[in-house]
Amino acid sequence: MRKKIVAGNWKMNLDITEGAQLVNDIFNGSPQLDENKIVVIAPPYIHLTQTASQLAGMDFIYLGAQNCHQEASGAYTGEVSAAMLKSAEVAYVIIGHSERREYYKEDSAMLAKKVNQALVNGMQVIFCCGEPLEIRDANTQNAFVEKQIKEGIFHLSAEQFKNIVIAYEPIWAIGTGRTASAAQAQDMHAHIRSVVAAQYGAQTADDTSILYGGSCKPSNAGELFGNADVDGGLIGGAALKVADFLSIIAAMG
Ligand code: PEP
Repeated sequence: MRKKIVAGNWKMNLDITEGAQLVNDIFNGSPQLDENKIVVIAPPYIHLTQTASQLAGMDFIYLGAQNCHQEASGAYTGEVSAAMLKSAEVAYVIIGHSERREYYKEDSAMLAKKVNQALVNGMQVIFCCGEPLEIRDANTQNAFVEKQIKEGIFHLSAEQFKNIVIAYEPIWAIGTGRTASAAQAQDMHAHIRSVVAAQYGAQTADDTSILYGGSCKPSNAGELFGNADVDGGLIGGAALKVADFLSIIAAMG
């Protein structure tokens, strides 16, 4: 049975005190979770050890990182390796977010290496994909996303692929307030699942969690998550507001 997941990506927001307060507030909100309905919190690197100790007493809320380096170690000033993240008790690593693809020129070859680093170090990957507006307007989004997925994660063995969560995030919906409709999300998620099925088989595809991301908020989370192939969300802006985040978590049902 595949997991439902709500993952909060704080991006480059919140200082140490604010981050601790937000995690505390989430805890006090008593989200109803279980082993198949989980939350991931992905703060900036500097928060990780603090957040890890806060999450130590919380069941079914896991620590995430927003990135990792593609090499194991070495002279890469300012970077953080997957092994370091693992040692900070990180369970999930977001790889291939569109902001990293665009601003830091992370291409598919680099992302595939990052995926390998995360898996070798025993973490799960939230692999992001999604098309820009011009691709959506040209109605070629299925082929675009399929290529991202094939290049980023289809080098993995079936066993390794069990550690992959896919996040579909149309770039035109990220931080814009413009959300994909429930039908647009369902269509793409079904397409992604069929692409995974063709490569790894129907059972693996059925077991793979596929999250939607892009201006997800309390007012649309229920409708988006109500789709057969939408297994939760990767949440940016709304993950910074405790009431909104708790409400989106509750929308997992
Ligand atoms: C994101 O960046 O992963 C995201 C979904 O952001 P937002 O929810 O703010 O659109």
